[in-house]
Amino acid sequence: MESHGRIIEKQQSYFTSGATKELSYRIDALHRLKAGIKGHERQLLNALKSDLNKSEFEAYSTEIGIVLEEIGFTLKHLRAWAKPRKVKTPITHFGTKGFIYSEPYGVSLILAPWNYPFQLAVAPLVGAIAAGNCAVLKPSELTPRTSETISEIIRASFQEEYVSVIQGGIETSEALLKEKFDYIFFTGSVPVGKIVMEAAARHLTPVTLELGGKSPCIVHEDANLKLAAKRIAWGKFMNAGQTCVAPDYIYVHQSVKDRFLSELRDAVKELYGERPLLNPGYTRVVSRRHFDRLEAFLGNGTTLFGGGTDKENLTIEPTVLEDIGWEHPVMKEEIFGPILPVLRYQHLSEAAYGIRNQPGPLALYLFTESKSVQEEVLKSVSFGGGCINDTVYHIVSPYLPFGGVGNSGMGAYHGQAGFDTFSHRKSVLKQTTRFDLPFRYPNRKNGLKQI
Ligand code: NAD
Repeated sequence: MESHGRIIEKQQSYFTSGATKELSYRIDALHRLKAGIKGHERQLLNALKSDLNKSEFEAYSTEIGIVLEEIGFTLKHLRAWAKPRKVKTPITHFGTKGFIYSEPYGVSLILAPWNYPFQLAVAPLVGAIAAGNCAVLKPSELTPRTSETISEIIRASFQEEYVSVIQGGIETSEALLKEKFDYIFFTGSVPVGKIVMEAAARHLTPVTLELGGKSPCIVHEDANLKLAAKRIAWGKFMNAGQTCVAPDYIYVHQSVKDRFLSELRDAVKELYGERPLLNPGYTRVVSRRHFDRLEAFLGNGTTLFGGGTDKENLTIEPTVLEDIGWEHPVMKEEIFGPILPVLRYQHLSEAAYGIRNQPGPLALYLFTESKSVQEEVLKSVSFGGGCINDTVYHIVSPYLPFGGVGNSGMGAYHGQAGFDTFSHRKSVLKQTTRFDLPFRYPNRKNGLKQI
């Protein structure tokens, strides 16, 4: 294995050759990536099962399928996105034409987390390739089999001077962050996001930070409770709650709390059965450290249902906690596991106030039939993105840029936003030589007055 520095140097000189900027090259690369993924589909499913006990259904729908969709969508639209965009010019620029050219940054670094270890490493790569960049990918050390499979796919599809996978833990990330990249795309926790941004600042490297936080879910008194419960149970407990946009906690209107919680209990039963810990398709917690952290939350408030754990298999039942306040430890950090605390409110403003008191969440979900309640929440609360009457689904539309705000990150990707993220927009004014308007020059007839 060559040293990081040597691979980056090779990528820099390959990028300088201009090869990756050709549209036909990028299209071909996306086809190769797609073929590489399809050729390793079985291996990927096995790796995700081994690393996180992901069922084939979840592994395909939330990891492999999403990435293949992203590639397909990008291939369909790339020619249009990559075209220089003609823009208007003001009257003072008579005779000129304005254009915006999208050009790749150069060599990009993609640092990925473990929770969707395939999707969150490879979906940003689609944007990087589409825009014409070279890329170094560092997948998570906590999901070694998936990271190894990603490495195999990339080796089978690309030369290392174009796209390369470097595996390793924190020291590897630290070593990579010392190098000069032209773009850094990071997905992970808030504290590490800060480390990445600090390291990037040393080289003035632009960054996208896809971070986490506590994403609230509001269930208003007029919500369709049965549907709300089902969609919340799906969004929260898939991947055992280890989803950056999973509802972290619920604010439910006092008047419907009991009915809603009873629907939620039924919904969880329908999705995972009476004894989820015995369900072979129930995802496990990624590591003992994360398991212990989550287990410590189980004493908070009152357990309405769930609460069972299996230390050996690192699984925790879908759990709902009642009688919870902001003073409880479970409300002090992102949960990132299958534990769902429930707070109640009387007036919508209480929920909005509670949410606004926290750093900008990555997602917000609101269940209500009322347009005015929707508008009130959309106007008064800032969040990365979200859904009305659903959870998580916004991130699978390629027409909606996905990213955070404030503590949940900066920048966005998915669909055209992925292409834009990895492109510098170069503004160019094309001037005529057929005439030369005099008014900008000093000491000319009709020119600017000399002071
Ligand atoms: P993490 O920040 O611990 O790790 C992410 C990456 O950074 C890994 O590749 C890791 O090796 C590297 N890393 C870890 N510590 C480092 C350090 N000190 N210096 C340099 N690099 C370091 O995150 P995680 O535990 O893998 O993922 C969970 C977090 O990611 C949660 O907060 C979750 O909300 C967030 N997340 C966000 C999104 C999103 O799209 N916004 C998606 C998934 C996860």
